[in-house]
Amino acid sequence: MNVLVINCGSSSLKYQLINSDSKEVLAKGLCERIGIEGSAITNQSKGCDKITKEIPMPDHKKAVELVIEALTDEKTGAIKSLSEIDAVGHRVVHGGEKFAEAVLIDDDVIKAIEECNDLAPLHNPANLIGISACKALMPQVKMVAVFDTAFHQTMPSKAYLYGIPYEYYEKYRVRRYGFHGTSHSFVSKRTAEILGRDINNFKVIVCHLGNGASISAVLNGKCVDTSMGLTPLEGLIMGTRSGDIDPAIIEFICKKENISVEDMNTILNKKSGVLGLSGISSDFRDLLSASEEGNKRATDTLDTYSYHVAKYIGSYITAMNGVDAIVFTAGVGENNASVRKSVMEYFKYLGIEIDDEKNKIRGEEIEISTESSPIKVMVVPTNEELAICEETVALVK
Ligand code: AMP
Repeated sequence: MNVLVINCGSSSLKYQLINSDSKEVLAKGLCERIGIEGSAITNQSKGCDKITKEIPMPDHKKAVELVIEALTDEKTGAIKSLSEIDAVGHRVVHGGEKFAEAVLIDDDVIKAIEECNDLAPLHNPANLIGISACKALMPQVKMVAVFDTAFHQTMPSKAYLYGIPYEYYEKYRVRRYGFHGTSHSFVSKRTAEILGRDINNFKVIVCHLGNGASISAVLNGKCVDTSMGLTPLEGLIMGTRSGDIDPAIIEFICKKENISVEDMNTILNKKSGVLGLSGISSDFRDLLSASEEGNKRATDTLDTYSYHVAKYIGSYITAMNGVDAIVFTAGVGENNASVRKSVMEYFKYLGIEIDDEKNKIRGEEIEISTESSPIKVMVVPTNEELAICEETVALVK
């Protein structure tokens, strides 16, 4: 079965066409600057070079039209016609409390996603535009919504409630939701598989460390806690997001700098994290080289980052009353040996040891702890598109 996986942002659309039987990516690409001058589509079919075309894209419907054109291009397309797309899987950021799993999209589902719009005002409307554009162009094809929040819906109330008046939960559903759920689900299952463990009797902590970063505690296949909250701003220090701060800082800085809460929100999302702390970059490769060259702020930033990751891991070991495996994934987690090493230094008291040679290997499924380590430390590359493809197939078959 060929599944088109769509990840729509407000001005972008990422896609992959995946054969679910062979797990092969037949084509992948990106539409950028949708609705803005200078829009372009980049498509790469299996075995072919990347092709980028600058072409006006006033809206997402035009972008989906161009994706279909690229996929079915006579010379460079991965398929001959639209009829070779058997299903579409849409990434949807926020499913609120309405969706604890992926669903087949119908009018009621679209309405329910719309009702979650105020929880993710930048993302959900864009996801819905992508869904309606695909429905308009492929009315006969079954479509599935896969939510970033769904995997975390198993959290108990003690993990998702905030210590604020309960009426805000009752009136506005203000609570922890968590994000990157597709990745946490995929990586936790894959880790159990690799270790030959029954997921139903397995305690794993998944560290998804990318530009956005979150950690989750997965007990017997179910998420029991996660670091992102009502929005993706909470939790770890990220590329440009602050993660946890004292909420009183917001009013304090707004008054000092004479800026609005909206301005502060932008600063916390876009100008904070390791970028704000280091003043150098949100990219860990730049931070590592600056630190190696003796830049103290870069070194302090990396230390602060690792310390926060370690504190979350420690708290999740407590949440699950133990842990069998700790797993690193996403851009930083998969590639950055020194972050992994410095995080795991905090767990020597548990007897965890890292094999430095294995830890050097990048972007592969590998156990990086020594054989004698009582708790396994792993690297398992995430594959959110394949996970969306598999969830889609499970519903349309
Ligand atoms: P993601 O959001 O998962 O794409 O992750 C993006 C982050 O991964 C960026 O901050 C990069 O610094 C980091 N990253 C990607 N490749 C490497 C690498 N080879 N070494 C260190 N960090 C990397």
